[in-house]
Amino acid sequence: MRKPILAGNWKMFKTVSQAVSYVEHLENLLAEVPNVEKADVVICAPATALYAVHNQLEGARTQLGAQNVHQAEEGAYTGETSAIMLKDAGAKYVIIGHSERRQYFGETDESVNAKVQQALKHGLLPIVCVGEDLDQRNQGVTNTLVESQVRAAFNGVSVDDFTRCVVAYEPIWAIGTGMTATSQDANTVCAHIRTVLADMYGQEKANLIRIQYGGSVKPDNIAELMAQSDIDGALVGGASLDPGSFANLVRNA
Ligand code: PGA
Repeated sequence: MRKPILAGNWKMFKTVSQAVSYVEHLENLLAEVPNVEKADVVICAPATALYAVHNQLEGARTQLGAQNVHQAEEGAYTGETSAIMLKDAGAKYVIIGHSERRQYFGETDESVNAKVQQALKHGLLPIVCVGEDLDQRNQGVTNTLVESQVRAAFNGVSVDDFTRCVVAYEPIWAIGTGMTATSQDANTVCAHIRTVLADMYGQEKANLIRIQYGGSVKPDNIAELMAQSDIDGALVGGASLDPGSFANLVRNA
């Protein structure tokens, strides 16, 4: 009942020309994937490549996302990109609160919440990232931590706006490390997230929300993850950098 969403997060990789030739290649490969229309396929490109990729993707099945947004409407924020600008450049989705942004750029639950509201205000669909680090997992506080991140991210977000969001559960220790949570462990946390969302918005609305898993997702582990009850897609870093690998991942999902 929930349409799977497979999103590639290129991070700080690819020039404009590399990005454009990638999506051209990806589209050709996806044309050969049976039932590809049953999933949303999204590429989250660097801000510099958004407009060119958007033009390249006109009429295509692949959708476009950005990787970050500033929480202010506009203003003296050197180096930042607003929701209006991202939308204008052709982005449909935007990743918010990725652990790399929280870790290296000081993003907090509060700024994540402000960014979610700003993105929604301008018609972008947020992919809201949450997840614990290795210490937190070892201390057994994963569910508590993820719950507080989810509650904070959606604080003050209306039911209608909420149903336009995607949540990505990404255990930090699994990102770029080759270590994946077992599909059962990942599903347990995703199911917990849905319980929290149900408490905030009601079970019916929570059942509509797509929850992705992210962290070393590859073409050869995606099927097992997708078979889980509460995992509705993946946010993919490394394995999205090559169009062949990402297309295989979509095929295997
Ligand atoms: P990874 O990254 O697939 O390279 O682990 C996932 C992410 O950071 O979204």
